Amino acid sequence: SSDENIWRKSNEKEYVGFATLPNQLHRKSVKKGFDFTLLVAGESGLGKSTLVNSLFLTDLHKDRKLLNAEERISQTVEITKHTVDIEEKGVKLKLTIVDTPGFGDAVNNTACWRPITDYIDQQFEQYFRDESGLNRKNIQDNRVHCCLYFIPPFGHGLHPVDIEFMKALQDKVNVVPLIAKADCLTPFEIKKLKERVREEIDKYGIKIYQFPHCDSDEDEEFKQQDKELKESTPFAVIGSNTVVEARGHRVRGRVYPWGIVEVENPSHCDFVKLRTMLIRTHMHDLKDITSDCHYENYRAQCIQNMTRCEHDKTYTWSQKKVNYE
Ligand code: GDP
Repeated sequence: SSDENIWRKSNEKEYVGFATLPNQLHRKSVKKGFDFTLLVAGESGLGKSTLVNSLFLTDLHKDRKLLNAEERISQTVEITKHTVDIEEKGVKLKLTIVDTPGFGDAVNNTACWRPITDYIDQQFEQYFRDESGLNRKNIQDNRVHCCLYFIPPFGHGLHPVDIEFMKALQDKVNVVPLIAKADCLTPFEIKKLKERVREEIDKYGIKIYQFPHCDSDEDEEFKQQDKELKESTPFAVIGSNTVVEARGHRVRGRVYPWGIVEVENPSHCDFVKLRTMLIRTHMHDLKDITSDCHYENYRAQCIQNMTRCEHDKTYTWSQKKVNYE
């Protein structure tokens, strides 16, 4: 093993031992565990809950109560949070899903993103407060690391509400746009819709999560994967909670009178790409951008406001003094 190697090498003269740093880091972070917070947004009924369950193989919505039409009309966006602890090969992940059911159901959708942006800000605010508090070491990080935004498969591109929604979120969170229920579209239609959405994202200056630049010294397989991920945005996804028999295998899929749609079949949709990106390749980058960019912006703004307040106070105070004199 690499540990034995390191041990053997430690007897060699020219070996200092800092090559063990990655191992030390690895051990420490495995012990501590990881956390990740994902927010799903988009019109209700686009398959958000189904997709999240398919992604993490959990049933997050066992006790969900679906509202009837009348209840939905009066409902404002209600935010619910589910946390699950999952473990794989000894690595623990505390996954939090923030669901935003009901969006788009109301007749009037003006500023329907407000509860969501408020929620994201509240998590920043809490973190900021904890960071300046006494117990800095054990801060619970509830900041939202990624927002999966579901675009409806019907229509000819982004709807005005999609544009406004993503723009409202873009400076607070990593937005990953998805084309929902991709099984409603033919491969050609998916290609067209993706092109259209990409064009509109450019045209309206919407800032979505950018995959980090891939260094030229990465191995070929990684480069290829990176290229495919970049070319496939927005990922077209399909969700299903049922296991079906297809080609002699048991797979997650949807059965139609004319055939079976397999969620994890790359020729049927981009589900596997999305899962790879979120879990295997970019989870860490999503977290880094959240804390180095989005949170840092929030923090800078807070500090600026605080100093401005201080400045105003001293200013009025000295003004008063002048008046008295
Ligand atoms: P949410 O309101 O966005 O959370 O949507 P749900 O996950 O509750 O799904 C709403 C309905 O759409 C359910 O009847 C699902 O079975 C169905 N559904 C979910 N995902 C897909 C999909 O990828 N394709 C199709 N055709 N239907 C889906």
